[in-house]
Amino acid sequence: MKLILLGAAGSGKGTMAKKISADFGIPQISTGDLFREIAKEGGKLGEQVQSLMSKGALIPNEITFEVLKARLAKPDCKKGFILDGFPRSLSQAEMLEGVTDIDAVVSIELPFEELEKRLVNRRLCPSCGEIDNTSYAGFTGNCRKCGTKLFQRDDDKPEAIKARLEVYKKDVTPLIDFYGGKVFSVSSAGSPEQTYAPVKTFLSKLEAKA
Ligand SMILES: [Zn+2]
Repeated sequence: MKLILLGAAGSGKGTMAKKISADFGIPQISTGDLFREIAKEGGKLGEQVQSLMSKGALIPNEITFEVLKARLAKPDCKKGFILDGFPRSLSQAEMLEGVTDIDAVVSIELPFEELEKRLVNRRLCPSCGEIDNTSYAGFTGNCRKCGTKLFQRDDDKPEAIKARLEVYKKDVTPLIDFYGGKVFSVSSAGSPEQTYAPVKTFLSKLEAKA
């Protein structure tokens, strides 16, 4: 099963990808992770990616194409894969068509108010990276793991969330149109289990058909 997973930051996309990966035995592939791996490996492509990333520049489509093609050719992708964070634009989606066919697109949708509620309450540990939430039971303002005082990322403040979500919607709308009937939309307003249940049913049917 060759899948694309779409969802804004805070929509629960990471959790969903892990569940799908475990239940259906297909790897989760994020271009962000791929770029970091390639940069570490070095070589001509690796150095190019490293230099772009260190400048904070976007990785051009041609390089992404090469990196992705190599990754999807690896043996663990034989049964399929979940693309997480890619494609981000119509031109990337069209490019992907030249590499592989996509069976389905799972789009996680969350209203702005809900997303804001989640992110606005999110607190991070500067020392160990643990994420907590002011609405969780037992929240003290200090890290549960190491005791360090938690902080709020600028990215998680309401204005930043709104701007980010607008960018996300602008990017994702043409993708939803592009994939048309292959798109399965799910609301993640409920618990992670409630969100995942219909996705699992949908994918099980899809797998049985293949
Ligand atoms: Zn900590």
